[in-house]
Amino acid sequence: MRNYIYCPYCANKLATDIIDNKTRQVCYQCNFIHYQNPLPTTVCIGELDDKVLLIKRGIKPRKGEWTLPSGFVELGETAEESCLRELAEETGMTGEVANLIGVYHAYSEVYGDIISTIYHIRLKSGIPIAGDDAEDVKLVPINEIGDLHFAAFNQAFDKFKKIIK
Ligand SMILES: [Zn+2]
Repeated sequence: MRNYIYCPYCANKLATDIIDNKTRQVCYQCNFIHYQNPLPTTVCIGELDDKVLLIKRGIKPRKGEWTLPSGFVELGETAEESCLRELAEETGMTGEVANLIGVYHAYSEVYGDIISTIYHIRLKSGIPIAGDDAEDVKLVPINEIGDLHFAAFNQAFDKFKKIIK
C-alpha cells in the first residue's frame, strides 16, 4: 500500500504512530490520521442461455487474460449499480441482478487490498461489444469456462454453477 510523505491537508511532514493497534501515518499538526481501507469492487457473472460473458482484460493486473467484467465502485452508487454500470461499459450489455454470489477479500499487486462483491446478472439478449478496459468480449458456454485468473472469481464461479444447477 502506498504511503504519503506529507499531510494531504496541511502539508506538514507525516509521522508514524500506533493508532487502534495498527501502525498508521499521522499528522501532529492537524491530527490527520491516514486510515487505509480495502478498495470496493464489483464483479459480474453475466449469464445468458447457459453462457457467461467473459472479457479479455485490457489493463493490469492479468492484462490479456479472459475473465469476468469488474471494476471499482464509484461514489454515490450501490454495489448493484456499480456492477451493472461496469457490465455496460465493458461489454455493451444490460441485465438484472439475479443473485448475490458472495463478498470476497483479495490482495492485488496493483491496487492492494480489495473487497469484491460478485453478482450473478441475468443478461438481456444482445450482442456484446468490447468497451472500456476490455480488449475483447464473448459469451462462453458455462461448461467450457476454466481458470478466471483471480482466486475470488474462481471461488464465486464454482458457487454460481451450484446455484444455477
Ligand atoms: Zn496535517
